[in-house]
Amino acid sequence: MNYPKVKRNVLLNPGPATTTDTVKYAQVVPDICPREKEFGDIMRKMGEDLVKIVHGSLDKYTAVLFTGSGTINIDACVNSLVPANKKILIANNGAYSARGVEVCEYMHIDHINLESSITEPLDPAKIEEVLKKNKDDVAVVYCCHHETGTGVLNPIREIGAIAHKYGCTMVVDTTASYAMIPIDMEKDNLDFVMASAQKGLMSMTGLSYVIGNTEMIEASKNYPTRSYYTNLYMQYKFIKEKGEMHFTPPVQTIYATEQAIKEYWEEGEIGKWNRHQSLWTAIYEGLDRLGFKTIIPREYQSKLVISVLYPDDDNFDFVKIHDYCYDRGFTIYPGKVSDLPTFRLCTLGAIFPDDIKDFIVCLEEGLKHYGVKVPCVYK
Ligand SMILES: *Cc1c(COP(=O)(O)O)cnc(C)c1O
Repeated sequence: MNYPKVKRNVLLNPGPATTTDTVKYAQVVPDICPREKEFGDIMRKMGEDLVKIVHGSLDKYTAVLFTGSGTINIDACVNSLVPANKKILIANNGAYSARGVEVCEYMHIDHINLESSITEPLDPAKIEEVLKKNKDDVAVVYCCHHETGTGVLNPIREIGAIAHKYGCTMVVDTTASYAMIPIDMEKDNLDFVMASAQKGLMSMTGLSYVIGNTEMIEASKNYPTRSYYTNLYMQYKFIKEKGEMHFTPPVQTIYATEQAIKEYWEEGEIGKWNRHQSLWTAIYEGLDRLGFKTIIPREYQSKLVISVLYPDDDNFDFVKIHDYCYDRGFTIYPGKVSDLPTFRLCTLGAIFPDDIKDFIVCLEEGLKHYGVKVPCVYK
């Protein structure tokens, strides 16, 4: 490849992620109509790879692709998978599971909003209690695997087992864990998972996908239809019969994602997960040295997002520190732990422990530049 190197930014925000130049340049292709067989072949192969990444058998699971950001999957699953006169139980412990609740509210879908502390993982026993009481009503259990707002990881395998014990479909928002933390559809008791190309796969924005149990998608044919553009069955059927997405696909993002999947297989599931964990360790080494406190106990964390508490220092101004780091190629991100003054550092993307070392040096310089005490002070 003879393209020039692109200026490299280290994105520590929760997606889109830092991408490789090979993925960026994979978008530069001759113009093509996406209704051509050549393009359809790329999409079919990609759909199969997306299922294989979560160890799904192609006989049992299928990938349904959408043009849109990750929230389109939440919309599609929630609006398409709840049968008439049934409810969806949403185990809600953060901003992203709350989004599932919001979709229900917007579409007037019967739901149970089971709220729990956003700083702790979901408790499967509490979910079981609700299912026991509402056996005949609840048809779908929904939760988020890794709550990106806090960095809390939820025990989906245990929750999935309970959902299945009560005959429910298990739907999980894995947008912030897919292709980062190993996931296995069967072993983890999952029927539907979802993700977006710009997160774990380190590709471009605009392509999202639901990986789901094919029989269950077929069964949803007879469920109430609540959306036209994001009906799961309609999109599934079109892809199955025509080998194309129903409406215009994000052509260039699909080329980028084809390359990103190639790079995913090269790095390997475990190699990639180990790299994410090594970034988390490197960030903590730096934060500990600079005296920062974090919010979520380490044993509850996904190791993909760290919520850092602002120091009690009048000179600490997140925007100034953000801008200082941004100007030097590092993007940090505001927090989302209720009203607590926090910011987030994430370990997504094509980045390495040396990038984190460089970032910590930059962060320390920024703090000193603005007169923030190092090590940080907390009252
Ligand atoms: C990023 C993300 C989404 C999707 O957000 P978009 O802004 O629509 O891409 C959904 N769920 C989780 C857990 C996420 O991290």
